[in-house]
Amino acid sequence: MLFTELGLSAAILRAIGEQGYDTPTPIQQQAIPHVLAGRDLEALAQTGTGKTAAFVLPLLHRLTDTTSPLQRITHTAPRVLVLVPTRELAAQVLESVRAYGKHTGLRSLAVFGGVGINPQLQALRRGIDILVATPGRLLDHMQQRTVDLSKIQTLVLDEADRMFDMGFIRDIRKIVERCPKERQNLLFSATFAPEVRELAHTILKNPALVEVARRGTPAELVAQSVIRVDQSQKKEALLHLFQAHGWHQVLVFCRTKHGADALSKRLDQSGIRSAALHGNKSQNARTRALADFKSGKLAALVATDIAARGIDIDSLPRVVNFELPNVPEDYVHRIGRTGRAGSSGEALSLVSSDERIQLRDIERLIKRDISSSVLPGFEPTNARESVPRAAPHPSRKPAAARASSGRSGEGQRNGQRSGGGGRGDGARTGTGGAKPASHHSGQRHR
Ligand code: AMP
Repeated sequence: MLFTELGLSAAILRAIGEQGYDTPTPIQQQAIPHVLAGRDLEALAQTGTGKTAAFVLPLLHRLTDTTSPLQRITHTAPRVLVLVPTRELAAQVLESVRAYGKHTGLRSLAVFGGVGINPQLQALRRGIDILVATPGRLLDHMQQRTVDLSKIQTLVLDEADRMFDMGFIRDIRKIVERCPKERQNLLFSATFAPEVRELAHTILKNPALVEVARRGTPAELVAQSVIRVDQSQKKEALLHLFQAHGWHQVLVFCRTKHGADALSKRLDQSGIRSAALHGNKSQNARTRALADFKSGKLAALVATDIAARGIDIDSLPRVVNFELPNVPEDYVHRIGRTGRAGSSGEALSLVSSDERIQLRDIERLIKRDISSSVLPGFEPTNARESVPRAAPHPSRKPAAARASSGRSGEGQRNGQRSGGGGRGDGARTGTGGAKPASHHSGQRHR
């Protein structure tokens, strides 16, 4: 299928062409017709699937289509509101709105905290069509009566699961109350945890359901591997990998802000240009770090989970987990930064013996063993014990019950994944230079 078959206006098709895209991704193919038709939508899609364009493109069309109920009136109060969990995601959604909408004449704005409020006030006064916002800053504007939500015709909740994780649910409800009752609602989430479902039930009316990746399903094109190494050796092992393989554009994940700062400093000292991205950095520093990383000035961006949420970089080749996350779902989010929209990517985890539980939980969630190896010269002290094989899955009940959420198709999807399981095997060590000491990949279930 081509974008030209979706019924989007010429101005939008032109902008899509300028981005170099001609084929809609699966989420776009499935979601765009529903959004164009004005229906509510409940979409299960991770970052990296092309979900932003899946709602931005049809909403731009509806705002500029004179035959649509959202037809152009003068730019005054916003008619589309996109709520997102983080400032980075707000900036990125705005970037997409502006790129795809550049020939439509529509006005858009992102409001988020951490930056001065005055430029936002001025832009709101001038009038806008599409408002992208984080809940906290939008509430500030609502309290100061500097934003008018009475003309909202479509409300988008993007990354709804993460909004819950970050405690935004009350704010969201307050914002929703101030929008007109008659409106279109679109909800995007990477997971359908029970609280997300409940929100969906209270907000969406007779929604179309669209699903392109299950909870816990890593992007299929991501080759995953583990290098077993002592905690004390991780920094040196990572430096070695950078130097030996001339890595560039690597997104490195740490668990803590302090850890991210320390690692970034160490990389810099060794001539590997990097920046740390975390919540303690000013918005300007974060924006600059991201821009430098995207333009290739930085070889590494060292990030914490929350700060990295929503990072959108075309064809990011490699994600490194310097430490495994405590929450296994975060692993799936992390590796979703690579292998996007059809390009392949690599996710490498440096795993020390004290992370065996986290690794086991991740393997249970993704229902697959990740192949592991050691890096010559950095063998863990107790190699045999450093990463024991995950125990057999005790019971599929809790994860599977939550994962299935009443949906069908899991078996089929897992079946498809097993074919790609070999991508995560010893072949990966070509990039890491590590010899596979043990090698296990593929499906444990089915
Ligand atoms: P998202 O899931 O919205 O974060 O998008 C992931 C990445 O895919 C972004 O870098 C988009 O620019 C890119 N993208 C979106 N739609 C397409 C498409 N139809 N073809 C190729 N790449 C796309």
